[in-house]
Amino acid sequence: MNMKMNTNMKMNGARVVERLEELYLCGKRDGSHSRLAFSEEDRKGRELFASCFRALGIEPLTDAAGNVVARLPGEDDSLPAILIGSHLDTVPDGGKYDGALGCVAGLEVVETLLPSGKRLRHPLDVVVFADEEGARFGSGMMGSGAFSGAPLGDFSPTAEDKTGVSRVDALAAFGVKHEDMGKAAREKATVLCSLELHIEQGGSLFRSGIPIGVVTAIAGVKRIEVTVKGEMNHAGSTLMANRRDALVAGARFIASVPEILAAHGNAYSVATVGTIAVRPNAVNVIPGSCVFSLEIRDREGSMIEKIESALERRLEEIAEDGGTAYDFKFVSETRPAHMDDKVKDAIARASEEAGYPYALMPSGAFHDSLMLARSFPCGMIFIPSVNGVSHSPKEFSTEEDIQKGCDVLLRTVLTLDKSG
Ligand SMILES: [Zn+2]
Repeated sequence: MNMKMNTNMKMNGARVVERLEELYLCGKRDGSHSRLAFSEEDRKGRELFASCFRALGIEPLTDAAGNVVARLPGEDDSLPAILIGSHLDTVPDGGKYDGALGCVAGLEVVETLLPSGKRLRHPLDVVVFADEEGARFGSGMMGSGAFSGAPLGDFSPTAEDKTGVSRVDALAAFGVKHEDMGKAAREKATVLCSLELHIEQGGSLFRSGIPIGVVTAIAGVKRIEVTVKGEMNHAGSTLMANRRDALVAGARFIASVPEILAAHGNAYSVATVGTIAVRPNAVNVIPGSCVFSLEIRDREGSMIEKIESALERRLEEIAEDGGTAYDFKFVSETRPAHMDDKVKDAIARASEEAGYPYALMPSGAFHDSLMLARSFPCGMIFIPSVNGVSHSPKEFSTEEDIQKGCDVLLRTVLTLDKSG
Protein backbone atom coordinates (compact mmCIF):
# COMPACT_ATOMS: atom_id res chain seq x y z
CA MET A 1 0.00 0.00 0.00
CA ASN A 2 2.78 2.36 0.87
CA MET A 3 4.57 1.80 -2.42
CA LYS A 4 1.38 2.83 -4.19
CA MET A 5 1.18 5.95 -2.03
CA ASN A 6 4.80 6.69 -2.85
CA THR A 7 4.26 6.60 -6.57
CA ASN A 8 1.00 8.55 -6.44
CA MET A 9 2.40 11.39 -4.41
CA LYS A 10 4.53 13.79 -6.33
CA MET A 11 6.44 16.66 -4.83
CA ASN A 12 5.98 19.84 -6.86
CA GLY A 13 9.47 21.08 -7.72
CA ALA A 14 8.09 24.05 -9.67
CA ARG A 15 6.15 25.22 -6.60
CA VAL A 16 9.31 24.92 -4.48
CA VAL A 17 11.22 27.08 -6.96
CA GLU A 18 8.40 29.66 -6.95
CA ARG A 19 8.46 29.85 -3.14
CA LEU A 20 12.24 30.25 -3.15
CA GLU A 21 11.86 33.20 -5.56
CA GLU A 22 9.19 34.79 -3.34
CA LEU A 23 11.37 34.38 -0.26
CA TYR A 24 14.32 35.88 -2.12
CA LEU A 25 12.25 38.97 -2.87
CA CYS A 26 11.52 39.39 0.86
CA GLY A 27 15.22 40.19 1.26
CA LYS A 28 15.36 42.85 -1.44
CA ARG A 29 17.04 46.03 -0.25
CA ASP A 30 19.41 48.58 -1.78
CA GLY A 31 20.10 46.51 -4.87
CA SER A 32 20.99 43.34 -2.93
CA HIS A 33 19.09 40.52 -1.24
CA SER A 34 19.66 39.48 2.37
CA ARG A 35 17.62 38.09 5.20
CA LEU A 36 20.01 38.67 8.08
CA ALA A 37 18.83 36.96 11.27
CA PHE A 38 16.13 38.89 13.15
CA SER A 39 16.06 41.69 10.54
CA GLU A 40 12.93 43.14 8.95
CA GLU A 41 13.70 41.07 5.83
CA ASP A 42 13.94 37.94 7.99
CA ARG A 43 10.58 38.85 9.49
CA LYS A 44 9.02 39.18 6.03
CA GLY A 45 10.44 35.80 5.01
CA ARG A 46 9.17 34.11 8.18
CA GLU A 47 5.74 35.68 7.72
CA LEU A 48 5.52 34.53 4.12
CA PHE A 49 6.55 31.04 5.19
CA ALA A 50 4.04 30.99 8.06
CA SER A 51 1.25 32.24 5.77
CA CYS A 52 1.78 29.19 3.51
CA PHE A 53 1.13 26.94 6.52
CA ARG A 54 -1.88 28.99 7.59
CA ALA A 55 -3.36 28.48 4.13
CA LEU A 56 -3.13 24.74 4.89
CA GLY A 57 -4.86 25.17 8.24
CA ILE A 58 -1.67 24.88 10.29
CA GLU A 59 -0.72 27.66 12.74
CA PRO A 60 3.06 27.73 13.22
CA LEU A 61 4.46 28.45 16.69
CA THR A 62 7.60 30.35 17.61
CA ASP A 63 9.64 28.70 20.37
CA ALA A 64 11.73 30.36 23.09
CA ALA A 65 14.74 30.72 20.75
CA GLY A 66 12.79 32.22 17.86
CA ASN A 67 12.58 28.96 15.87
CA VAL A 68 9.36 28.62 13.86
CA VAL A 69 7.73 25.20 14.24
CA ALA A 70 4.81 24.12 12.02
CA ARG A 71 3.28 20.79 12.97
CA LEU A 72 1.41 18.40 10.74
CA PRO A 73 -0.36 16.11 13.24
CA GLY A 74 0.20 12.37 12.87
CA GLU A 75 -2.19 9.47 13.44
CA ASP A 76 -0.67 9.19 16.90
CA ASP A 77 0.57 12.49 18.26
CA SER A 78 2.04 10.82 21.32
CA LEU A 79 4.75 9.37 19.03
CA PRO A 80 8.03 11.29 18.59
CA ALA A 81 8.08 13.74 15.69
CA ILE A 82 9.82 13.51 12.36
CA LEU A 83 11.60 16.82 11.94
CA ILE A 84 12.39 18.61 8.68
CA GLY A 85 14.31 21.79 9.23
CA SER A 86 16.84 24.32 8.05
CA HIS A 87 17.16 28.11 8.13
CA LEU A 88 15.71 31.14 6.37
CA ASP A 89 18.37 33.64 7.44
CA THR A 90 21.12 34.40 4.93
CA VAL A 91 24.54 35.99 4.78
CA PRO A 92 24.66 39.57 3.40
CA ASP A 93 23.69 39.43 -0.28
CA GLY A 94 23.28 35.66 -0.05
CA GLY A 95 21.54 33.29 -2.43
CA LYS A 96 18.08 31.83 -2.90
CA TYR A 97 18.78 28.25 -1.84
CA ASP A 98 21.12 28.00 1.16
CA GLY A 99 18.81 27.16 4.06
CA ALA A 100 15.59 28.26 2.38
CA LEU A 101 15.51 25.08 0.29
CA GLY A 102 15.36 22.87 3.39
CA CYS A 103 12.50 24.90 4.89
CA VAL A 104 10.47 25.12 1.68
CA ALA A 105 10.99 21.40 1.03
CA GLY A 106 9.52 20.70 4.48
CA LEU A 107 6.50 22.83 3.57
CA GLU A 108 6.25 20.98 0.26
CA VAL A 109 6.16 17.62 2.08
CA VAL A 110 3.18 18.87 4.10
CA GLU A 111 1.53 20.34 1.03
CA THR A 112 1.94 17.03 -0.81
CA LEU A 113 0.78 14.81 2.05
CA LEU A 114 -2.32 16.80 3.06
CA PRO A 115 -4.36 16.62 -0.17
CA SER A 116 -3.30 12.99 -0.76
CA GLY A 117 -5.17 11.95 2.37
CA LYS A 118 -2.09 10.01 3.50
CA ARG A 119 -1.53 10.47 7.23
CA LEU A 120 1.81 9.85 8.78
CA ARG A 121 1.85 7.84 11.99
CA HIS A 122 4.22 10.36 13.54
CA PRO A 123 3.67 14.09 13.80
CA LEU A 124 5.83 16.03 11.32
CA ASP A 125 7.50 19.23 12.52
CA VAL A 126 8.77 21.63 9.88
CA VAL A 127 11.24 23.91 11.63
CA VAL A 128 12.86 27.18 10.62
CA PHE A 129 15.93 27.42 12.84
CA ALA A 130 16.82 30.96 13.90
CA ASP A 131 20.16 32.58 13.07
CA GLU A 132 22.03 29.70 11.48
CA GLU A 133 24.49 31.87 9.59
CA GLY A 134 25.75 33.96 12.51
CA ALA A 135 26.42 36.69 9.92
CA ARG A 136 24.91 39.44 12.04
CA PHE A 137 26.17 38.80 15.58
CA GLY A 138 29.15 36.56 14.88
CA SER A 139 28.12 33.09 16.10
CA GLY A 140 25.81 30.83 14.17
CA MET A 141 23.44 27.87 14.70
CA MET A 142 21.80 29.68 17.60
CA GLY A 143 18.27 28.36 17.13
CA SER A 144 19.33 24.78 16.42
CA GLY A 145 21.76 24.96 19.35
CA ALA A 146 19.00 26.01 21.72
CA PHE A 147 16.61 23.43 20.24
CA SER A 148 19.22 20.69 20.82
CA GLY A 149 19.94 21.77 24.38
CA ALA A 150 23.52 22.86 23.60
CA PRO A 151 25.34 25.34 25.87
CA LEU A 152 24.48 28.87 24.70
CA GLY A 153 27.55 30.71 26.02
CA ASP A 154 28.62 31.78 22.51
CA PHE A 155 25.47 33.84 22.04
CA SER A 156 26.26 36.85 24.16
CA PRO A 157 23.30 39.20 24.75
CA THR A 158 25.59 42.22 24.28
CA ALA A 159 27.07 41.15 20.92
CA GLU A 160 26.34 43.95 18.45
CA ASP A 161 25.76 44.05 14.73
CA LYS A 162 27.43 46.60 12.43
CA THR A 163 24.81 49.21 13.22
CA GLY A 164 25.20 48.88 17.00
CA VAL A 165 22.02 46.85 17.64
CA SER A 166 22.61 44.25 20.36
CA ARG A 167 21.54 40.63 20.09
CA VAL A 168 19.27 40.96 23.11
CA ASP A 169 17.39 43.87 21.48
CA ALA A 170 17.17 42.21 18.06
CA LEU A 171 15.71 39.08 19.71
CA ALA A 172 13.30 41.15 21.80
CA ALA A 173 11.92 42.75 18.61
CA PHE A 174 10.87 39.22 17.62
CA GLY A 175 9.39 38.49 21.05
CA VAL A 176 12.35 36.33 22.09
CA LYS A 177 13.82 36.80 25.58
CA HIS A 178 17.54 36.11 25.47
CA GLU A 179 17.59 34.69 29.00
CA ASP A 180 14.83 32.22 28.12
CA MET A 181 16.41 30.73 24.97
CA GLY A 182 17.39 27.54 26.79
CA LYS A 183 13.69 26.76 27.19
CA ALA A 184 13.59 25.90 23.47
CA ALA A 185 15.47 22.63 24.22
CA ARG A 186 13.47 19.65 23.02
CA GLU A 187 13.45 16.40 24.94
CA LYS A 188 15.34 13.72 23.02
CA ALA A 189 12.37 11.40 23.26
CA THR A 190 10.12 13.84 21.37
CA VAL A 191 12.13 13.59 18.12
CA LEU A 192 12.24 10.40 16.03
CA CYS A 193 14.71 11.85 13.53
CA SER A 194 15.68 15.08 11.83
CA LEU A 195 16.10 15.62 8.09
CA GLU A 196 17.70 18.56 6.30
CA LEU A 197 17.74 19.05 2.54
CA HIS A 198 20.47 21.50 1.55
CA ILE A 199 22.52 22.58 -1.42
CA GLU A 200 26.01 21.16 -1.42
CA GLN A 201 28.50 23.93 -0.78
CA GLY A 202 31.67 22.75 -2.46
CA GLY A 203 30.69 21.52 -5.90
CA SER A 204 31.61 17.79 -5.83
CA LEU A 205 28.09 16.72 -6.82
CA PHE A 206 27.94 19.30 -9.59
CA ARG A 207 31.30 18.25 -10.98
CA SER A 208 30.51 14.55 -10.85
CA GLY A 209 26.95 14.92 -12.19
CA ILE A 210 25.51 12.96 -9.23
CA PRO A 211 22.15 14.45 -8.16
CA ILE A 212 22.01 13.31 -4.52
CA GLY A 213 24.53 13.45 -1.70
CA VAL A 214 23.90 11.38 1.41
CA VAL A 215 25.80 13.18 4.13
CA THR A 216 27.83 10.91 6.39
CA ALA A 217 29.20 13.51 8.82
CA ILE A 218 29.60 17.23 9.26
CA ALA A 219 33.22 18.24 9.65
CA GLY A 220 34.30 19.77 12.92
CA VAL A 221 36.62 22.72 13.13
CA LYS A 222 39.45 23.69 15.43
CA ARG A 223 40.61 27.29 15.42
CA ILE A 224 44.05 28.31 16.60
CA GLU A 225 45.74 31.68 16.89
CA VAL A 226 49.37 31.42 15.83
CA THR A 227 51.95 34.00 16.86
CA VAL A 228 55.46 34.08 15.44
CA LYS A 229 57.86 36.30 17.34
CA GLY A 230 61.05 37.64 15.80
CA GLU A 231 62.96 40.84 16.28
CA MET A 232 61.92 44.28 15.09
CA ASN A 233 64.82 46.07 13.52
CA HIS A 234 65.90 48.60 10.90
CA ALA A 235 65.15 47.42 7.37
CA GLY A 236 68.16 49.24 5.93
CA SER A 237 70.95 48.54 8.37
CA THR A 238 70.18 44.95 9.45
CA LEU A 239 71.96 42.49 7.15
CA MET A 240 69.97 39.55 5.85
CA ALA A 241 72.13 37.16 7.85
CA ASN A 242 71.33 38.95 11.07
CA ARG A 243 67.58 39.08 10.82
CA ARG A 244 64.94 37.32 12.84
CA ASP A 245 62.01 38.17 10.59
CA ALA A 246 58.68 36.98 12.02
CA LEU A 247 56.84 37.42 8.75
CA VAL A 248 59.31 35.39 6.71
CA ALA A 249 58.92 32.51 9.18
CA GLY A 250 55.13 32.93 9.20
CA ALA A 251 55.01 33.01 5.40
CA ARG A 252 57.12 29.86 5.11
CA PHE A 253 54.77 28.11 7.49
CA ILE A 254 51.63 29.28 5.68
CA ALA A 255 53.06 28.15 2.35
CA SER A 256 53.70 24.69 3.83
CA VAL A 257 50.08 24.13 4.97
CA PRO A 258 48.94 22.49 1.68
CA GLU A 259 51.84 20.00 1.67
CA ILE A 260 51.26 19.08 5.34
CA LEU A 261 47.61 18.43 4.52
CA ALA A 262 48.58 16.36 1.48
CA ALA A 263 50.91 14.27 3.65
CA HIS A 264 48.71 13.82 6.73
CA GLY A 265 45.07 14.50 5.80
CA ASN A 266 42.48 12.70 3.71
CA ALA A 267 40.69 13.97 0.60
CA TYR A 268 38.31 16.06 2.74
CA SER A 269 40.71 17.45 5.36
CA VAL A 270 41.24 21.20 5.02
CA ALA A 271 43.27 23.84 6.81
CA THR A 272 43.22 27.56 6.18
CA VAL A 273 45.06 30.67 7.29
CA GLY A 274 42.48 33.38 6.76
CA THR A 275 43.74 36.45 8.62
CA ILE A 276 47.16 37.86 9.36
CA ALA A 277 48.41 40.87 11.31
CA VAL A 278 52.01 42.03 11.11
CA ARG A 279 53.63 44.22 13.73
CA PRO A 280 54.67 46.96 13.48
CA ASN A 281 53.35 46.82 9.88
CA ALA A 282 55.69 49.51 8.63
CA VAL A 283 57.56 49.63 5.30
CA ASN A 284 61.00 50.11 6.78
CA VAL A 285 60.84 47.84 9.83
CA ILE A 286 61.57 44.10 9.91
CA PRO A 287 58.40 42.50 11.26
CA GLY A 288 58.78 41.75 14.95
CA SER A 289 55.73 39.55 15.14
CA CYS A 290 52.96 38.19 13.03
CA VAL A 291 49.72 36.76 14.30
CA PHE A 292 47.47 34.67 12.08
CA SER A 293 44.39 32.52 12.30
CA LEU A 294 44.62 28.83 11.52
CA GLU A 295 41.62 26.56 11.25
CA ILE A 296 41.57 22.84 10.60
CA ARG A 297 38.46 20.93 9.55
CA ASP A 298 37.76 17.23 9.23
CA ARG A 299 34.94 14.77 9.87
CA GLU A 300 37.05 12.99 12.51
CA GLY A 301 38.31 14.73 15.65
CA SER A 302 41.36 12.43 15.69
CA MET A 303 42.35 13.58 12.19
CA ILE A 304 42.11 17.23 13.27
CA GLU A 305 44.50 16.44 16.16
CA LYS A 306 46.90 14.61 13.85
CA ILE A 307 47.03 17.51 11.40
CA GLU A 308 47.40 20.04 14.20
CA SER A 309 50.48 18.25 15.59
CA ALA A 310 52.03 17.95 12.11
CA LEU A 311 51.49 21.66 11.53
CA GLU A 312 52.93 22.56 14.90
CA ARG A 313 55.99 20.37 14.28
CA ARG A 314 56.57 22.18 10.99
CA LEU A 315 56.25 25.59 12.62
CA GLU A 316 58.70 24.52 15.30
CA GLU A 317 61.28 23.60 12.61
CA ILE A 318 60.74 26.82 10.69
CA ALA A 319 60.89 28.96 13.82
CA GLU A 320 64.10 27.33 14.96
CA ASP A 321 65.64 27.74 11.55
CA GLY A 322 64.87 31.48 11.45
CA GLY A 323 65.74 32.23 15.06
CA THR A 324 62.13 33.01 15.90
CA ALA A 325 59.75 31.77 18.57
CA TYR A 326 56.14 30.76 18.17
CA ASP A 327 52.94 30.22 20.11
CA PHE A 328 49.97 28.01 19.19
CA LYS A 329 46.94 29.29 21.11
CA PHE A 330 43.68 27.36 21.18
CA VAL A 331 40.72 29.57 20.21
CA SER A 332 37.72 27.31 19.75
CA GLU A 333 36.65 23.85 18.73
CA THR A 334 33.46 22.44 17.29
CA ARG A 335 33.45 18.68 17.27
CA PRO A 336 32.41 16.85 14.08
CA ALA A 337 28.92 15.31 14.01
CA HIS A 338 28.05 11.95 12.54
CA MET A 339 24.77 11.38 10.80
CA ASP A 340 22.62 8.51 12.04
CA ASP A 341 23.11 5.13 10.27
CA LYS A 342 19.43 4.35 10.05
CA VAL A 343 18.57 7.78 8.63
CA LYS A 344 21.50 7.63 6.18
CA ASP A 345 20.33 4.20 5.00
CA ALA A 346 16.76 5.45 4.56
CA ILE A 347 18.01 8.35 2.39
CA ALA A 348 20.23 6.06 0.31
CA ARG A 349 17.35 3.59 -0.15
CA ALA A 350 14.98 6.42 -1.10
CA SER A 351 17.46 7.57 -3.79
CA GLU A 352 17.74 4.04 -5.14
CA GLU A 353 13.95 3.58 -5.25
CA ALA A 354 13.57 6.89 -7.06
CA GLY A 355 16.27 5.84 -9.54
CA TYR A 356 18.67 8.67 -8.66
CA PRO A 357 22.39 7.98 -8.27
CA TYR A 358 23.79 9.13 -4.94
CA ALA A 359 27.18 9.64 -3.31
CA LEU A 360 28.07 9.26 0.36
CA MET A 361 29.92 12.40 1.40
CA PRO A 362 30.90 14.47 4.42
CA SER A 363 29.88 18.13 4.69
CA GLY A 364 32.73 20.59 5.03
CA ALA A 365 30.31 23.43 5.85
CA PHE A 366 28.33 23.77 9.07
CA HIS A 367 24.58 23.25 9.09
CA ASP A 368 21.85 23.21 11.72
CA SER A 369 22.18 19.41 11.61
CA LEU A 370 25.60 19.75 13.26
CA MET A 371 23.84 20.93 16.42
CA LEU A 372 20.83 18.67 16.03
CA ALA A 373 23.02 15.57 15.67
CA ARG A 374 24.27 16.06 19.24
CA SER A 375 20.79 15.17 20.50
CA PHE A 376 18.76 13.55 17.73
CA PRO A 377 19.24 10.95 14.96
CA CYS A 378 19.98 13.14 11.92
CA GLY A 379 20.32 12.86 8.19
CA MET A 380 21.13 15.36 5.47
CA ILE A 381 20.38 15.26 1.76
CA PHE A 382 22.57 17.36 -0.54
CA ILE A 383 21.72 18.45 -4.06
CA PRO A 384 24.19 20.03 -6.50
CA SER A 385 24.84 23.75 -6.49
CA VAL A 386 25.94 24.88 -9.95
CA ASN A 387 29.73 25.42 -9.90
CA GLY A 388 29.61 24.82 -6.13
CA VAL A 389 28.76 28.48 -5.53
CA SER A 390 27.04 29.48 -2.28
CA HIS A 391 26.82 32.52 0.01
CA SER A 392 26.48 34.53 -3.19
CA PRO A 393 23.66 35.89 -5.35
CA LYS A 394 25.06 33.55 -8.04
CA GLU A 395 24.02 30.49 -6.02
CA PHE A 396 21.89 28.31 -8.31
CA SER A 397 20.39 24.83 -8.29
CA THR A 398 18.29 23.52 -11.17
CA GLU A 399 14.60 22.74 -10.79
CA GLU A 400 15.38 19.19 -11.89
CA ASP A 401 17.82 18.70 -9.00
CA ILE A 402 15.45 20.40 -6.55
CA GLN A 403 12.71 18.00 -7.69
CA LYS A 404 15.00 15.03 -7.10
CA GLY A 405 16.05 16.23 -3.67
CA CYS A 406 12.41 16.77 -2.69
CA ASP A 407 11.40 13.32 -3.98
CA VAL A 408 14.14 11.71 -1.90
CA LEU A 409 13.08 13.74 1.14
CA LEU A 410 9.44 12.62 0.90
CA ARG A 411 10.36 8.98 0.34
CA THR A 412 12.72 9.15 3.33
CA VAL A 413 9.95 10.57 5.52
CA LEU A 414 7.58 7.78 4.46
CA THR A 415 10.20 5.10 5.14
CA LEU A 416 11.16 6.44 8.56
CA ASP A 417 7.51 6.94 9.49
CA LYS A 418 6.96 3.20 9.08
CA SER A 419 10.03 2.29 11.05
CA GLY A 420 9.87 4.23 14.31
ZN1 LIG B 1 22.70 26.73 5.13
